Amino acid sequence: MAHFAQLKYYLAVLARNGIETPTGVLEYPKLKQKEVVNWDESILEDAKRWEEEVKNIVMLEHCPMLTKLSLCKSCSYYEFCYINDK
Ligand code: SF4
Repeated sequence: MAHFAQLKYYLAVLARNGIETPTGVLEYPKLKQKEVVNWDESILEDAKRWEEEVKNIVMLEHCPMLTKLSLCKSCSYYEFCYINDK
């Protein structure tokens, strides 16, 4: 679902910059599938909430505890999150 949220965030950025009802497409070439993500006003609320969550994390004095997930091994941030596990 992270890819879906990422696209929704991009749509919010486009909308904030004057693009009316932006639309995005998620493509899964290996699965030969496409998913169109249409504009919805709730996307702006989602983006605002995510930004607040990020600000709250950034303002923490210490990094939050790592939540180990099965998807971590394929995540681009793996090296950052697991640096203390080496
Ligand atoms: S590696 Fe880090 S950023 Fe990536 S999914 Fe796991 S906890 Fe989240």
